[in-house]
This record gives sequence, structure tokens and C-alpha cells, in this order.
Amino acid sequence: MGKVTGFLEYERQGPAYRPVPVRLRDWREVYEPQSDAQISEQGARCMDCGIPFCMQGCPLGNRIPTFNDAVYQRDWAHAADQLFRTNNFPEFTGRLCPAPCESACVLGISSDPVTIERIEYEVAEHAFANGLAVGTYPILETGRRVAVVGSGPAGLAAAAQLRSVGHAVSVYERSDAIGGLLRYGIPEFKMEKAVLERRLEVMRDTGIKFHTNVSIGDGGTPLVDLQRNYDAVLLAIGSTIPRLIPVPGAELDGVYAAMVYLEAANRAVRDGVESPISARGRHVIILGGGDTGADCLGTAHRQGASSVTQIEILERPPDSRPDDQPWPTMARLFKTSSAHQEGGERRFSTETLEFHGEDALREISLMDHSAQETFRTPADLVLIAAGFIGPELDRMGLNTPSCMTERGTLRVDNAWRVAAVPGQSPVFACGDAVRGQSLIVWAIAEGRSAAAAIDAHLSGTSVLPAPLEPYALSW
Ligand SMILES: Cc1cc2nc3c(=O)[nH]c(=O)nc-3n(C[C@H](O)[C@H](O)[C@H](O)COP(=O)(O)OP(=O)(O)OC[C@H]3O[C@@H](n4cnc5c(N)ncnc54)[C@H](O)[C@@H]3O)c2cc1C
Repeated sequence: MGKVTGFLEYERQGPAYRPVPVRLRDWREVYEPQSDAQISEQGARCMDCGIPFCMQGCPLGNRIPTFNDAVYQRDWAHAADQLFRTNNFPEFTGRLCPAPCESACVLGISSDPVTIERIEYEVAEHAFANGLAVGTYPILETGRRVAVVGSGPAGLAAAAQLRSVGHAVSVYERSDAIGGLLRYGIPEFKMEKAVLERRLEVMRDTGIKFHTNVSIGDGGTPLVDLQRNYDAVLLAIGSTIPRLIPVPGAELDGVYAAMVYLEAANRAVRDGVESPISARGRHVIILGGGDTGADCLGTAHRQGASSVTQIEILERPPDSRPDDQPWPTMARLFKTSSAHQEGGERRFSTETLEFHGEDALREISLMDHSAQETFRTPADLVLIAAGFIGPELDRMGLNTPSCMTERGTLRVDNAWRVAAVPGQSPVFACGDAVRGQSLIVWAIAEGRSAAAAIDAHLSGTSVLPAPLEPYALSW
């Protein structure tokens, strides 16, 4: 522990936000950088508790007190070394993670928790700036070949781990670009795509091969072909079937699943053109009060929406921990994200009844359960951000009871293997396809764990760390 009295001397201080009127005119990330002195002070707030609950809160088991101390000492190289041991992509989680570690920080019992996520961001950025974010190069080639299907954080983490121990890794992605939801889900203002490109460059340099526009199954490359050509196949295909709201009028022009809207917006930003589904001049209603809804909100404001309202069917969450969600759990609390700071209305306890219009959407009927009243409001763009049902298993013929859990996710055994799939080489799975819709940090942890299992299968034993047991076992 660097500074024994740090937590008494310094207040929690996160980064400043860029002013709203300025940031709404561009797509750049919303935070201002912090100085090294500020970050060092924040690291000094870590109490190096005897039992670091933060590490248990993090699915990756990040060595948080150790890198906090290194940051306090401004030993950025040591901090990076510690962080990269457990997290392949701290530059993603440092920007995007809802930080279960901070919910579990012991300082958070009596004060504000340490800004762990932002410290992680700074460590990653220093590492890239100083040439320390190099991939892990294998010291020998095993001659074994692994195909990874899907290039989101789960597939990417698994690929990096498998390559580090000498397997030849090919990543297959059906989209035209690598990254999964990091590419076409998450908007630029949360993470600029240059951050993803920079990481992919590092991964390519270690020898990982990326193949885009290759769909596995469903008229594309059959899964059995991969099984024939590779020693193992890993399915990291995400949870991509959107949950829609089947009320009258749902087929009207102007009603979209959030991901359809966000993908079009991300592509438009990349190409420097107006999105074909632009919110410009429209009254936008977002159905779903979660993070995907907030991403739609920030995007709609940047596109020039006339008004934006975010509707949530559940009650407004409390501002502070309720008794049934005590420390160190990650409590469901009222959150004001950067997108919420930028404007728009939020309504809770409100249910969608009907969409109205001739061909195109004009209005929406809603029921406010707290006021016990129904009302109609103008709407010419509705974005449904109600979550995801599960992975597209039918495309690979895996929608069978032996391959699929009751929740519609891939059924894996205690070695991350979809044991029921016949064929020459074994098929493994990880990420949202196994866990269901989740978080980047869980996807990375699952990718690392599945990689260890695949390596053990190919090599007889593995030195790769496996932070998780397969989740689906409990179902
Ligand atoms: C809009 C949005 C914003 C989010 N923001 C955050 C956030 O800020 N922080 C956070 O922690 N989490 C966030 N999440 C959740 C997070 O992005 C996911 O949990 C994570 O990306 C899951 O990783 P994955 O690798 O399992 O799947 P994905 O990222 O979904 O990647 C799966 C990939 O597999 C490909 N694929 C699917 N089927 C095939 C096939 N048959 N052949 C070839 N390729 C295929 C898909 O095209 C996709 O690229 C967000 C989710 C959404 C929808």
C-alpha cells in the first residue's frame, strides 16, 4: 500500500466531461483526460484491504490493489504488467465496464469507492503510449489449429489467449468488420473505433488471422467444415436475437430494434454520411431504460432529434443501496449516464400499448402505471431496446434440447464444450452465447476460461488462467 492515509486525504475524483453543447456536435468520447497527478492521488485512495473484495467483484479477478499502488507510485509499467496478466483488453473495460469492482470496493462502505475503472483506463492508455501494450507472442508453435467463430470481446479474448500458447488461430466473423458489439453496437462517444483498431493491430501482429464476411452455418460455411479443418472450434457468436415488443402497430415504418438503429448509426459515422435511420428532426421514443437505451439516446441527440423520451416498464430504481442489495453486491441503482446528461425525458413504470400510424409511425400509446393513466404522444421513430433473447442457434442447427439450455443459450459442459455436437473436432462456446446478454468483462472472462479449456484439450494440460467455471452448468 503506497499511501496509508490516502483514503482520508483525497476525495474520489473522476474525469471531467466535455461540455454538452460541444460534445453533441461530434462523436468523440465524452471525457476529458485526467492528469498523472490526479490519477496517482486516486490510486492512493486504495486501502489495500486485507481481503480485496474488489478482486472478487471483478469477473477477471483483476489485481486491483496492486495496480492501484503502482499507479500511486507512478510506476505505469508495473501497473500495466499487472493489469494485462488478467485482462486482455483493459482499454475496453476501462471505458465501458459498469465496474462491479467499484460496487465491491471496501472504501465504498463508508465513502466513495476508488475510481478503479478510470485507473484501468489510464493504465491501458499509458501502456499504449509507451509501447507496452504488445501482444503475447508464443515461444513455440504447437501446430494445432483453432477456429473462433464471432469476433466480439469473448472471441477476441479467447483468440489472444490461444495464440499466446502457440496455437494457430483464425477468427471468422460474418459481419464486414471485426469487433462484435464493440464495432457496431457501442457508439463512438463511449469508445472510439480507433481504440478497437489499435488492439486488432496488436493481435494481427502476433499472428492471429481475421476473416470477415464469413457466416458459419445457414448457407455460409458449414460448421462441420470448420470441424474438419481445425483441431477445435469455439463459438463466440453472441446473443443477437432482439426482444421485440409485440403490440399492435409494431410492423409500422419507424419502429426499429435498437441494434438495427445503432449499427446504421455506427456505419454512418464511419463513412461520414447521414444514417439511413436518422433521428434528425424526429420525435424519438426509446423503449427500454437500460444501457442500450442510453446508447440510442446519445446517438439520437447527436443526429439532431427534435425530442427524445426513454421509457422503462420497471419502477425507477433507488438512488442508494436498498437493504436487499447490500455491499458488496452490484446494486440496481438509478444511473445517470453521459447520454442522460445531454437531455431527453425519462419515464419509469410505463408500459407500451400500441403504435399508431397509416404506413409510417405517428404516435404511441403508453400506460403510466404510477399515475394509473394511459396517454398518446407523438412518435416518428421508436427504438426498441428491450434486450436480447439469445444466440441464433437455428442457423447452425444447434437449436436442439441437447445443445440448448432452457434459456435458449448454448449448453456447455464443465470444460466449455458443447458436448452434444458431433463431428471430427470438438466444439466449445463462450460469451453471451452461453451466458445470455451480459457485459464485456464477463465476455472476456469467459473467452479466457474457454481458451484454457481448449488448450488443455489440445495440449493435455494448460498454463492459461481460467477465471470462471462455465455458467450454464447451473441451469
Ligand atoms: C448497444 C449495446 C451496448 C453495450 N454497451 C456495453 C457497455 O458499455 N459495457 C459492457 O460491459 N457491455 C455492454 N454491452 C454488452 C456487451 O457488448 C456484450 O456483453 C458483449 O459484446 C458480448 O460479447 P460476445 O463476444 O459474447 O458477443 P458479441 O459482441 O455479440 O459478438 C458476437 C459476434 O459473433 C458474430 N456472429 C454471430 N453468428 C455468427 C456466425 N454464424 N458466423 C460468424 N459470425 C457470427 C456476430 O456478428 C458478432 O460480431 C452492450 C450491448 C449492446 C447491445
